[in-house]
Amino acid sequence: MQSTHRFVRFAWKGANYWGEHEGNHVRRWSGAPYEDGQPTERSCPILDVEWLPPVVPSKIIAVGLNYAPHVAESASADAIPDEPVIFLKPSTALIATEGSIILPPNVDRVDYEGELGIVIGIGGRSISVAAALNHVWGWTIVNDVTARNLQKKDKQWTRAKGFDTFCPVGPWVQTEVDISQAKLTTRLNGEVRQQGSVDQMIFPIARLISFISGVMTLHAGDLISTGTPAGVGPLAAGDRVEVEIEGIGILVNHVKVS
Ligand code: MG
Repeated sequence: MQSTHRFVRFAWKGANYWGEHEGNHVRRWSGAPYEDGQPTERSCPILDVEWLPPVVPSKIIAVGLNYAPHVAESASADAIPDEPVIFLKPSTALIATEGSIILPPNVDRVDYEGELGIVIGIGGRSISVAAALNHVWGWTIVNDVTARNLQKKDKQWTRAKGFDTFCPVGPWVQTEVDISQAKLTTRLNGEVRQQGSVDQMIFPIARLISFISGVMTLHAGDLISTGTPAGVGPLAAGDRVEVEIEGIGILVNHVKVS
């Protein structure tokens, strides 16, 4: 079968694998495709596998306030930033598509933030803007789930952005797509809540990679979440939240109380 360029991670019979999504099956890979992994002859029916987040990052770097309409709706921001605003999310926050976002107890408001994710394929530091896209392995979808009240209370965003399950990623990493003008849509229980286009970013993709790599060395596998368009809003138990990006797919998650 021809390559679909949709790379996943999954659990099957007690072990975790990299794979490539091929219709009703997943073809197993021998390791991470951005390292020395290769396709194998083995495949598993999709109905038999459990999806895992399709990334194994040494760090997750997220960008705040990267779409002007979201800056305008954000009470914490009074101006367009003159440099990218970056923060980290812990790897323990990762969940896969179809996984559940768990609302922590005693937290008033937890929001969805649909975002484009960049997966690094070739690490580096102080990467130039001109070379930045050569360091990208592929593209995915991130929901930068945020405890909004705690974000405002703490100033530092680690707690608000860092709860377990607050980083849904998937459904896969798409390695062959032109996302330069891709549309992003977030739906809550089927209703459209966010619509944006990647070309509306204040700091574009190459600039983000260059800027971040000037601060911290990027490793292959690292995930960068590029900021959310306008329309963020709260999640409640029982909700179904979907983030769709043209050319990649749809990340679907459910919301539960702990
Ligand atoms: Mg965000």
